[in-house]
Amino acid sequence: MTEKVRCLIIGSGPAGYTAAIYASRANLAPVMYVGMQPGGQLTTTNEVENFPGYPEGITGPELMVDLQKQAERFGTDVRFGMVTATDLSAAPYKVTIDGEKQIEAETIIISTGATAKYLGLPDETKYAGSGVSACATCDGFFYRKRKVAVVGGGDTACEEASYLSGLADKVFLIVRKPFLRASKIMQERVLKNPKIEVLFEYETVGLTGDKVVQGADLVKRRGQSDEEQLHIEIDGFFLAIGHKPNSDVFKPWIETDEIGYIKTVPGTPRTNVAGVFAAGDVADPHYRQAITAAGSGCQAALEAERYLSEKGL
Ligand code: NDP
Repeated sequence: MTEKVRCLIIGSGPAGYTAAIYASRANLAPVMYVGMQPGGQLTTTNEVENFPGYPEGITGPELMVDLQKQAERFGTDVRFGMVTATDLSAAPYKVTIDGEKQIEAETIIISTGATAKYLGLPDETKYAGSGVSACATCDGFFYRKRKVAVVGGGDTACEEASYLSGLADKVFLIVRKPFLRASKIMQERVLKNPKIEVLFEYETVGLTGDKVVQGADLVKRRGQSDEEQLHIEIDGFFLAIGHKPNSDVFKPWIETDEIGYIKTVPGTPRTNVAGVFAAGDVADPHYRQAITAAGSGCQAALEAERYLSEKGL
């Protein structure tokens, strides 16, 4: 049987939970589906030091549990499940959960976030779960006193390399450019850390090992006349090269850019479909912070409330 919902929130990161807090306090009786990674990307983060209100920092999982409690306190119905299909051709909008349950929603807040990217090497699949990971805080524990490599030159890569240096004996940071893109403070932390060796201008071309990762083949200045090969011995290979927005299931109806970020009316969470709003990393290629995601979740809930009251729903 089809369930009717006034405000459906899809995804459970800081954007989704902030939308849920506002929507439930405004009596929109929101229903949230948490998606594949309940709590979102912050559940794979170690220390969050830049979310206002926590002078000593807080762990990502603790922050998300707090946000969930706050949303549930005002009546948000938080459920497990994934959106597997949508029909946003006309309101009320039709959404399928886990391939079977049907929901009709007057408004939808899309806060599905983004997912870690991989290099696309066949070896990443071959060694998946056997030394290849895109989450240092989830898997770093397995590499205590061992050697690991992190790929990427942004804040995530630097953060993961720093975190892993607290567990592993040695961390290689493989950076394809001759410089780091990360913020100055993160760069300094990495460059000063004696356990981290930064390999600038290197690309990974393959992984080696019998059943589990034991090494990586790298090429410096690939394709140039002074190209150099390097083999490093490692037990773990961590990807930290950015993310892909989780917007595929909405694409037939919702406009996205070429990467897949949902396009919104500048300064608002409005999409091209009236009553459907996008908040957080799924619509944000620029800032991608927990606090900006939370802010846009608030905006989305306020917009949903206005939309419903204008329609008299
Ligand atoms: P970024 O997009 O900032 O960085 C991605 C990095 O991966 C770049 O160095 C990029 O190289 C490299 N890269 C991309 N594709 C490849 C590839 N195929 N092979 C090798 N290297 C590749 O992503 P992040 O996840 O680091 O950060 C996303 C956002 O989140 C940023 O705005 C960041 O500031 C923020 N963030 C903030 C944190 C904090 O404040 N605590 C923590 C983590 C993230 P290149 O430079 O050559 O493009």
